[in-house]
Amino acid sequence: MGKFYVLLGPPGAGKGTQAAIISEKCDIPHISSGNIFRENLQNDTVLGQKAKSYMEKGELVPDDITIGMVEDRLEKEDCKNGALLDGFPRTPNQARALDSFLESNGAAIKCVPFINVDEKELIERLSGRWTCKAEGHVFHTKYKPPKEPGKCDIDGSDLYQRKDDKRETVEQRIKVYFKQTSPLIAYYREKGLLVEIDGSKTIEEVSDALINVVQC
Ligand code: ADP
Ligand code: AMP
Repeated sequence: MGKFYVLLGPPGAGKGTQAAIISEKCDIPHISSGNIFRENLQNDTVLGQKAKSYMEKGELVPDDITIGMVEDRLEKEDCKNGALLDGFPRTPNQARALDSFLESNGAAIKCVPFINVDEKELIERLSGRWTCKAEGHVFHTKYKPPKEPGKCDIDGSDLYQRKDDKRETVEQRIKVYFKQTSPLIAYYREKGLLVEIDGSKTIEEVSDALINVVQC
C-alpha cells in the first residue's frame, strides 16, 4: 500500500473541491465517506437506510457503520498505491481504526492537511453549494459557478442543493465538527502529521498550497 492522506477540516472548508483537484493531479483515488453515504441513499441500500436519519439531522453516522464501509472501499484494487481521504476519519475512534487498518496492510498516513476556514465563511460556502447528482462534483453560485446554471460542467448531470446544506442543519454540522472531529487536530499534530493550510484563500491558492504539501 502507498501514500495515504487525510484531508481534515470543518464542513464547507473545501475538502471535496481540493480532493478532486489533487486526486486528478496526483492520480490517487478520492475517497469521500459522505459521497459513499449519498450513493447508498440514492440507491436505497440497507447501508443508506441506516445512515439516512443521522445525515438528515447533521449528526455523524455511528462508527460501527462508517468504519467498515470505508475499510471496504480502501480494500479495493485502486487504493493499493494510496488514497486521499475526505470526511473520514471524523472521530478519534475512526482515526485509531484507520491507523490499525493501514498498519495491518503495511501502510501509514503520509500527512494530514488541515484546511481551516472561519465559521461565517463556512456558512456562506455551504449555503451557496450546488452538488452534481451523478458524481458529487461541487459548485458554488458565487465562487465556482457552473458554465450552464443547474448543470454539472464535468458530466452534464443536474445540480441540486443538499438537504443538509440548509441553515439549521449546517449549524448543527458545524457544532458536531467542533465537538467530535476537532480533537483530531491534536491527535495528528502529536503524531507530527498535521499541516495547517489557510482555507480562506481562493480555490487555486489553496490547491497550490496543498500540492506543495502533498508533493506527488
Ligand atoms: P467540504 O468538502 O469541505 O464540505 P466543499 O469542497 O464541498 O467543502 O466546498 C464547499 C463550498 O465552498 C462549495 O460550494 C465550493 O464550491 C466552495 N469552495 C470550496 N473552496 C472554496 C474557496 N477556496 N473559496 C470559495 N469557495 C470555495
Ligand atoms: P460530508 O459529505 O462529508 O459533508 O458528510 C455528509 C454527512 O455524512 C455527515 O453530516 C454525516 O452524517 C455523514 N458522514 C460522512 N462521513 C462520516 C464519517 N466519517 N463519520 C460519520 N458520519 C459521516
